[in-house]
Amino acid sequence: MDTRDEWIDLQLAGRGITDERVLAAFRSVPRAEFVPEELAEFAHEDEPLPIGGGQTISQPYIVALTVDALDLQGGERVLEVGTGSGYAAAVLGRLAGEVYTVERLESLADSASERLSRLGFTNVHVRCGDGTLGWPEHAPYDAIAVAAGGPEVPRALLDQLAPGGRLVMPVSAGERAQTLVRVTREADGHLHEDSLGPVRFVPLIGEQGWPEEGGLVR
Ligand code: SAM
Repeated sequence: MDTRDEWIDLQLAGRGITDERVLAAFRSVPRAEFVPEELAEFAHEDEPLPIGGGQTISQPYIVALTVDALDLQGGERVLEVGTGSGYAAAVLGRLAGEVYTVERLESLADSASERLSRLGFTNVHVRCGDGTLGWPEHAPYDAIAVAAGGPEVPRALLDQLAPGGRLVMPVSAGERAQTLVRVTREADGHLHEDSLGPVRFVPLIGEQGWPEEGGLVR
């Protein structure tokens, strides 16, 4: 077992992430490639790390909790909002058919896109834009992961969720502490919501998220 496996056993399997496919996906994505070079030695720490632009690569366990809750079987079309470093998109790429990921900051979208193609993630597609509006051209999605906290689940994302699809997103009334919620669209179109627990994410800024300025201290 190398150190890459050890932290996965401790932080993910040790906290109840038991799906072997999910654990194998984490083992196969080199997290150190997704953090700034000077932080590479901390890549497997149990915490978020800065990636530039005031943004973070999420704590591994929170990425695993999100991915696990999406219950991917392979072959799905997945939307991610908040590409950041591209790490979660890469993990999703190992578990699904195609991943479409949207990042609002151009510098992060560009570096994630370059990194993902350098590492051979040919089924992960990055776009710069407002992810609160989704990526309608490739909808509907079997799964949607939102990696930033908003006041409510954007209507546009619910509209792009396929029947039987799952959406996971941090939601809150304000500040940075949120509840991670999962919304499932039943086969008959009915929406069902359950809570996955308290989390802390950077804000989701956009037309169907928080406004760019004011309202929140960022
Ligand atoms: N999934 C990322 C990773 O694996 O590195 C971490 C994401 S970071 C916690 C949240 C990201 O969401 C930030 O990069 C931020 O710029 C982005 N973001 C915030 N609002 C957004 C929006 N409306 N559309 C797209 N990206 C957004």
